[in-house]
Amino acid sequence: MSDFVVNSDIKHPGTEAALVTAPTVQLRRQRTTANWRAILPWASYWIIMVTSFGLTAWLVQENRLPNTGWYVMAQVNVVLIALFEELIPKNKQNSVFHDRQSWNDIGHMLLFKLVCRPLVWMVALAIVSFASKHWHSSNSIWPSHLPVPAQFVALLLVFDLIGYGYHRALHRFDFLFAFHALHHDTRNMHVLKANRLHVGEEVINFLLLVPAMIIVGCPPGMMIWLGMWEVFEGNLAHSNVDQKFPSWFHYVVRTADVHHIHHSNEGRLQNSNFGGLPIWDVIFGTYRHPFDTTLTTTGIDGNPVPKGFWGQLCYPLVSNFRALRARASVLGK
Ligand SMILES: [Zn+2]
Ligand SMILES: [Zn+2]
Repeated sequence: MSDFVVNSDIKHPGTEAALVTAPTVQLRRQRTTANWRAILPWASYWIIMVTSFGLTAWLVQENRLPNTGWYVMAQVNVVLIALFEELIPKNKQNSVFHDRQSWNDIGHMLLFKLVCRPLVWMVALAIVSFASKHWHSSNSIWPSHLPVPAQFVALLLVFDLIGYGYHRALHRFDFLFAFHALHHDTRNMHVLKANRLHVGEEVINFLLLVPAMIIVGCPPGMMIWLGMWEVFEGNLAHSNVDQKFPSWFHYVVRTADVHHIHHSNEGRLQNSNFGGLPIWDVIFGTYRHPFDTTLTTTGIDGNPVPKGFWGQLCYPLVSNFRALRARASVLGK
């Protein structure tokens, strides 16, 4: 029962009792709001994840999710996170609605998710299905005898290791960082930044992903769930939702606090927390825990990436790689 249920005297405004009770009601209401605001950051990650995965699983079970439905669920997840960003923002200065680059972020998201990624995944899954029929029928290395959750964790670890290596390469090599700079050149972290990715990044990623999928030989259906995890987790990791966790959880999952460190304008911080899972950063010595790190601001000093959408797309072709890297304070670290 809510604390808002109060003395019935409040029903008669103007009486002496009402004048005494009204401030009490207001105080209780403020306390209740304060309690919710204190509790919600501890629950926000779980509410968003359980809702997103629960709804997806229910739609799959009911056969109500056609192929394109996966992309619809990805957008439902974005809207849900955007609502939480307004309700409990991590940084009150950051907002999807006050960021002039939000339209560009949506443009990159549409290009990436509606044009590039479906094409990439369609081709990838067709190749993997073909390969699994012809080359993996008897000698697949995939441990299909394990329980499904164990298979999923194994898949997650393998592909996250590939992602970790690729992300380090994006920061290590100038011509690759010119593609990745678009993702980093922002001071305003929010859910749309998860998809502020140059299409060139995805094409190169595809070239790595397909051979890995063929070699691993896992069921294509499981790859789709892996894709959903990456979408939901990636959106939350870039979001401006206030999310609180116990210290150990930052070692298990790439939380927003962990990933925002990687978006720092300081080279020494930018060269950390590359993985989608922290385990590879811990093993390879590039992990920084948010409780031990002070993040002042995100972005690339000098904001070298153009503000216009088409300029951003052309940027890797025209950028001066070395000048860009110097501005990003990455060299010599
Ligand atoms: Zn990066
Ligand atoms: Zn990022």
